[in-house]
Amino acid sequence: MLAKLLEGKPLGDRIKEELRQKIAASGRKLTLASVQVGSNPGSDVYIKSQKRAAELLGIEYQLHTLDKETGQAQLVEFIGSLNTNASVNGIILQMPLPAHIDHKAMRLHIAPGKDVEGMHPLNLGRLVFGKAKVLPCTAASVMELLNSTGIDYAGKEAVIVGHSEIVGKPVSLLLMEKLATVTVCHIGTSRAGKLQDHVARAEILVVAVGKAGVIKGEWIREGAAVVDVGMNRAGERLVGDVEFAAAEKRAAWITPVPGGVGPLTVTMLMRNLVEANL
Ligand code: NAP
Repeated sequence: MLAKLLEGKPLGDRIKEELRQKIAASGRKLTLASVQVGSNPGSDVYIKSQKRAAELLGIEYQLHTLDKETGQAQLVEFIGSLNTNASVNGIILQMPLPAHIDHKAMRLHIAPGKDVEGMHPLNLGRLVFGKAKVLPCTAASVMELLNSTGIDYAGKEAVIVGHSEIVGKPVSLLLMEKLATVTVCHIGTSRAGKLQDHVARAEILVVAVGKAGVIKGEWIREGAAVVDVGMNRAGERLVGDVEFAAAEKRAAWITPVPGGVGPLTVTMLMRNLVEANL
């Protein structure tokens, strides 16, 4: 039997409707400031979908496109002006930033209460304590998809492939919080030739690497829940990190790429804005 698809759009639509109602009931006007340094085709796509979601929810979306030559100190100053602007409720810093700007250092300059991407060290620290108000958006999307399966996490073998700050690390903390037994794999695991062994044990598998087909379908444990975060261009198509056709014959649940994690991340951004303010 083929795996059930874990689709992000219907889930995202449901959550957006709840958020829309909550915002309307509050009578508050929320404003989201989005900062882009120079223009970039990748972030332009995200900005479009963020704007669309904001409009749907009755949130004002303010786009600030700064010159591509903007220096780090100038960007810090600009973010500071948004931090102190009482009419701004949340700030998004569009990635990628130009190479002359240290994007990790910039996370520190966004006021934690306006950090709707959940990436300020204070918010990440709250995550470690199990007290997070806002979550990194992609990690939150992964958890929403897994929660939608009704899975009982306690004691399950959860394997995460990829240990980035935006996906692998926060997902590992969130799954630990649910009492899953968590293994985090990365390039060291692959180099040691141990990736297949870990993946084959996974009752819950989350992959965020960015390499098409790095996880072979035949490695997947029968009945696993598989969330593929990877987005890779294959000619005209977008594919994940997991070999989908073979994996869906073994898994019980699997995310399609595109259509799984991607459509949920903007919704999670809006949810963070609401959680931080209402
Ligand atoms: P990243 O920062 O480049 O992290 C990739 C991770 O994979 C790193 O931990 C890396 O380890 C590990 N890795 C690389 N090659 C590996 C291998 N052969 N075996 C095992 N681990 C390996 O990427 P990211 O930002 O987390 O994104 C990962 C993927 O998710 C990308 O395709 C990205 O486009 C996608 N993504 C999608 C969404 C969405 O909304 N759908 C959001 C975010 C990201 P080392 O660092 O040790 O090399």
